[in-house]
Amino acid sequence: MYKPEENDTTSKIIKGMEEWAGEPAHSSRFISFYLELLQIHANVEQKTGIPAVGIPQELVNHRIFNGQPLIRFEELDIDWSVANDVFKNIAQLFKQYSDVLQGYSNLETENIPEINAEIAQKWLDRGNLDSEAEKVCISPTEMATLIHHTMRPFLTGYALAFKQRINQQSWRKGNCPVCGSAPSFSYLEKENGALYLICSCCNMDWLFQRLHCPFCNNTDQPTLSYHTDEKGLYRLYLCDKCKGYLKAVDLKKTEGELNLGLEAIITADLDLQARELGYLPGEILS
Ligand SMILES: [Zn+2]
Ligand SMILES: [Zn+2]
Repeated sequence: MYKPEENDTTSKIIKGMEEWAGEPAHSSRFISFYLELLQIHANVEQKTGIPAVGIPQELVNHRIFNGQPLIRFEELDIDWSVANDVFKNIAQLFKQYSDVLQGYSNLETENIPEINAEIAQKWLDRGNLDSEAEKVCISPTEMATLIHHTMRPFLTGYALAFKQRINQQSWRKGNCPVCGSAPSFSYLEKENGALYLICSCCNMDWLFQRLHCPFCNNTDQPTLSYHTDEKGLYRLYLCDKCKGYLKAVDLKKTEGELNLGLEAIITADLDLQARELGYLPGEILS
């Protein structure tokens, strides 16, 4: 079985994105922000690698069988002093680019609170972040975004570590088996066209059924549809029940290796199209 040696989730994205951003039509301040953000993630991934997971396989199987995502922050061996440095760097970056990012111009970076297992778990459980947000003059949603980008490079390592230990057939849920977050991208497999969802947070991919909304579990066919581009390479899955959308790429229509992490970012025109049609990304809905 393939086992990656190191966590190169983000460094692979950066390489593709630098080439893509090199085209004049794509250079902008927003892309500079994105590249700096990805570089912070790549540095952490390089430093922390793929961690050893001390959870017994029976417990992994038990949680997966019962539909419970695997991550509990108190069980993970995260160096919180590193996480705190990342948290501060992320906050400074968002403040620096607050001219192109909404909601961070008043962010008081010097008052950024300490991040620990308890706050990270609260964020993962979509708990109330009002007091943490208030201290630094941003909204709870923006605080959740800062924590998301702080924890992501740690969680991508755990996703790679857990990947080999999860029985794909026994999950089949709309949220991530590793961290419980909603998917933000998906792909149709080359061989048999099976649908795999990709986590918006930890980059885990998992098998799901087609014609089924991962966000609200809707299976009523008349309320589910998809749009495709001219080449049939991309799909935009739409659900009229929850008004959620999911982007997908059909790997049967591609040649060679496709960088899925990069595809998720550079298909921003699909996001725009979906929003114009009145749909929202699932990670906002759920
Ligand atoms: Zn995840
Ligand atoms: Zn739905």
